[in-house]
This record gives sequence, structure tokens and C-alpha cells, in this order.
Amino acid sequence: MAELISFGVDGALHVPEEPVIPFIEGDGIGVDIWPAAKSVLDAAAAKRGNKVAWKEVLAGQKAFDETGSWLPDETVETFRTHLIGIKGPLTTPIGGGMRSLNVALRQILDLYVCLRPVRWFTGVPSPVLHPELVDMVIFRENTEDIYAGLEVEAFTPEAAKLSEFLRAEMGWEIREGSGIGIKPISEFGSKRLIRASIKYALEHGRPSVTMVHKGNIQKFTEGAFRNWGYDLVREEFADVAVGWDECGGKPGDKLLVKDAIADITLQQVLTRPTDFDVIATTNLNGDYLSDALAAQVGGIGIAPGGNINYVSGHGIFEATHGTAPKYAGQDKVNPGSLLLSGVMMFEHLGWADAAADIVAALEATIADKVVTYDFARLMEGATEVKCSEFASAIVDKL
Ligand code: NAD
Repeated sequence: MAELISFGVDGALHVPEEPVIPFIEGDGIGVDIWPAAKSVLDAAAAKRGNKVAWKEVLAGQKAFDETGSWLPDETVETFRTHLIGIKGPLTTPIGGGMRSLNVALRQILDLYVCLRPVRWFTGVPSPVLHPELVDMVIFRENTEDIYAGLEVEAFTPEAAKLSEFLRAEMGWEIREGSGIGIKPISEFGSKRLIRASIKYALEHGRPSVTMVHKGNIQKFTEGAFRNWGYDLVREEFADVAVGWDECGGKPGDKLLVKDAIADITLQQVLTRPTDFDVIATTNLNGDYLSDALAAQVGGIGIAPGGNINYVSGHGIFEATHGTAPKYAGQDKVNPGSLLLSGVMMFEHLGWADAAADIVAALEATIADKVVTYDFARLMEGATEVKCSEFASAIVDKL
């Protein structure tokens, strides 16, 4: 019988035998990748005796056409009550009064972790020599930083007012004709993000967490993020983890929590990828780092993501690419990003076997060089198949 997932006082998800899981098909290529990803998820779940009762909810263009709203209240409510969901890409309405539907959903449900695992799958074309050395899990803060949307435009009365306040009260001279943005980074926001990354590293047997920041320049935002992280290790994890500031890189049998400056990190993930396991970082750094790392292991067609609040139990897993309108409805693109987001969701639900089966079947399919156009054009001797055919090939390997 289909039932709702619940979240216990023990801080754990309780997943019934047949959970009801809301999904947003997504705009553009959503019509191609959602049915493809769903067919693999259903087949893998069935093989392990699990079943999802999918429930469609609307957002984006489809919602606007049918209801006049880009993000109907009912959709948000359904995600709120069902806790876990999955979504395809959404068109960002231009001039619709909403910055982005994705950002709106993350903010309304306070999904404070953007989780982006980055690993290489055998056979996936990559621009680097040793993509197999890349195996990182990025925890990107999802609610603060310059993404808070606190900006004023140059040459507006608001900018003039803020400049004048800063000059009079702080003695800060802002050049005339400047736009101004505010970057809030809080102790609460930093600690809950870093806490989630440390717990994940401990649960998954990862040897280190690296806090990536730009604290050498932005001392009271990025630098504070780092310092609060080290404080947190001492306050809450002293028995199982130790900060670099205390052990000088010799953690014994404890989890090592270290830090690295963002610019150097972008070099070292290329030159010394094995130095990085779990990464905890602020919003903007995380944005750059996730996409740079995704490129190292095969690009956005295959990079999955999840937006999670570990305290309320909410999580929405999503394709990390956009709607690719020029390919919409052609049954052509790679369903890998949405499918692997579904794999992350299964792992999150505790369905580790079904998740591992899909990863193995996906790898076997790519190893056979049966791939969609985006990989086919980068691989020698590949058989290019449609989006739906790629999904069928994966199902055959399950
Ligand atoms: P995009 O990711 O949609 O597409 C850029 C290019 O990447 C495509 O033309 C295609 O060549 C390639 N690509 C994307 N997904 C692919 C896949 N699954 N398989 C193979 N190739 C793929 O980015 P864009 O063109 O900048 O944005 C289009 C629309 O998507 C905009 O409305 C934008 O706001 C929206 N968008 C949504 C999300 C989201 O919902 N999370 C993210 C980014 C962009």
C-alpha cells in the first residue's frame, strides 16, 4: 500500500514499503529524461523488492500553462508533506518576478545543503588523464552568501542611500555608480552545513573533510566559515574528528577536518585530486567548484545533485543541468544526471542495493560504448543511441 515517508524524533527518515514520492517532470528535455530515468529507477527498485508510488506535481512552464502559476502552492505543499522528491530541470521565468524556481524551492523548504557527489564512471570521456582519481562529495551551502539576493543596482536611489549610510556610519567610500551586494555568512548557517558534511564523512568512512573558503581576503565571512568549522569539530565531534589546526595533519584514527583557499583548491582538484574527499564550502565557491569538478568526470549530462535539510528531513533531488530547449522532445539527450539524482535519492532512502545496481548497470552500458550523443561524439567506436534506448540498455544490464 502506498504510504507517506515520515521523519522521526530520532532524526531518521522512516520509509514505508511503497513510499509516495512526488516528481516534477521538468521543462524542455524533461519530457525525454524523466520517463527514461523513471524506467530505470522502477526496474532497479522492483528487482530488490521495492516500489515507488510516483505522484506528479507541477512547476515551471507546464504549471504555468495549466494553472497560471510557475510554482503552485500545491506543489510546495506536496514536497513539504511528502519530505522527499525529485525534479527535472525548470525554465527560469524571465521577468516573472521570481529569480529562479529552483532557488525558490530551496529557500521555501530551507534545503540548506546542495549535495553534489563527483566521481568518474568507467568509460566516460574526460578531459583529464586520471579521472578515476576524482571521487569527491561536495556540500555546498545553499541559503546564504551572495545568493541571498541582497543587491542594489548602480545609479538607483537605493544604491545612493546605502552608499551614503556606509560613508556616514562606517567611513567606507564606495565609488559613484557602483552596484552593491551584501554577503551574509552566519555561524548558524556555516555550522549546520559543516556538521552535515562531517556526519556524512563519518557515516561513509571518508578520511577527510576540506572546508573550502576565501578567508584570506574575506575574513569575516569566508574566514569565519572556516573558524566556525574548526570550533564545531571541538564542540561536537572531538571524540571522532580532529581539525588540522589541532593535529597538523596527523589525525590518527579520527576524521581529519582541514581547510583550503578556494583558488588553490581549483588547481589542486586537478593536480592532486586524491587529497580531497568530502568538501564543505560556501554557496558561490560551491557553485564554481561543482561545475568545474563535473567537467573533470564527464560534464553536466551526468552530474547529479540533491538539496537537503537534514534537520527537517526534506530533500529534493535534481538534474544539475538546465532544460536544453534546443533538444527538447527529440529523445536525444543523456538522462544520466536525473537518473543518478534518483540513485542519490535511493541511497538517501536506504535503498543502497537498488542504487548500487543502477550504478553498475550504467557503468556496464557505458563500457559497451552504448551512449547518447554527448558521449558518443567524444568516444571512438561508440554506438550512439537515443535517450530512451540508453535507459533500456541500462535496464537490460540490471
Ligand atoms: P542547459 O543546461 O539547459 O543546456 C546547455 C547545453 O548543455 C545544452 O544545449 C546541451 O548541449 C547540454 N546539455 C544539457 N543537458 C544535457 C543532457 N542531459 N544531455 C546532454 N547534453 C546536455 O543550460 P542553458 O541553456 O543555460 O539553460 C536553459 C534553461 O534551463 C534556462 O531557462 C535556464 O534558466 C534553465 N536552467 C535550469 C536549471 C535547473 O532547473 N536546475 C539549471 C540550469 C539552467
